[in-house]
Amino acid sequence: MRKNIVAGNWKMNTTLQEGIALATSVEKWVSEHPSKVKVIVAPPFTHLSDVGKVLHHVGLSSQNCSSEVSGAYTGEVSVSMLTSVNAAYAIIGHSERRSIYGETDAILAKKVKIALQAGLTPIFCCGEILKERESNIHFDVVRKQIEEALFILTPEEFSHIIIAYEPVWAIGTGVNATPAQAQEMHQYIRKLILSKFGASLADDLSILYGGSCKPSNAHELFANPDVDGGLIGGASLKAEDFIGIIQAF
Ligand code: PEP
Repeated sequence: MRKNIVAGNWKMNTTLQEGIALATSVEKWVSEHPSKVKVIVAPPFTHLSDVGKVLHHVGLSSQNCSSEVSGAYTGEVSVSMLTSVNAAYAIIGHSERRSIYGETDAILAKKVKIALQAGLTPIFCCGEILKERESNIHFDVVRKQIEEALFILTPEEFSHIIIAYEPVWAIGTGVNATPAQAQEMHQYIRKLILSKFGASLADDLSILYGGSCKPSNAHELFANPDVDGGLIGGASLKAEDFIGIIQAF
């Protein structure tokens, strides 16, 4: 079944103490306001274990994972390390990982596969840069990102995927995609998935929008039939703003 999801990507923000306080506020609100919306937070690796302990109604995600199982990979964090601290989700392919750390489609395909094998639910990010949208190749860019990382999956594996469409030009810029632009791309993605995995998996897929989503624009973005929620950066760092976005449903 398709789920409405609001996930907060804290990026490299908050000390452990600040992170626990933020997670505690979000958990408290979610526990007092039962709804069909699944709320997820993705703190830095160092916070996962302690933040996880205060979450009972909110899902725990990492922001990344290693493409390798274990061994001599200094500084990396494996999927089994993540599941050992009760993370249930892993953001994979965020544009900052792609552009700053050179993560290619091939690396991301490995990460998706390895995360699924460990029982993690990948939140797979895709999206075009401004130049690509201005050149009118944004659909091709997103198609390639999805084909390379997700079309290798079996239908059973794909049934555990969440996709986040995040136009790079909208991330952290204050300029969000218009509701029409978001709907157009989400519909395109769902059709692409339908062509590969069939109607049932395409219909069940949750596709989140990410990019300068805030309480003031979340409602109009989430009102679209193919926008099933949001991956939230900056606005997930203040409980009040994050909760305002959850309330947009
Ligand atoms: C993100 O980085 O995933 C994101 C959506 O950031 P922001 O909400 O700050 O644009």
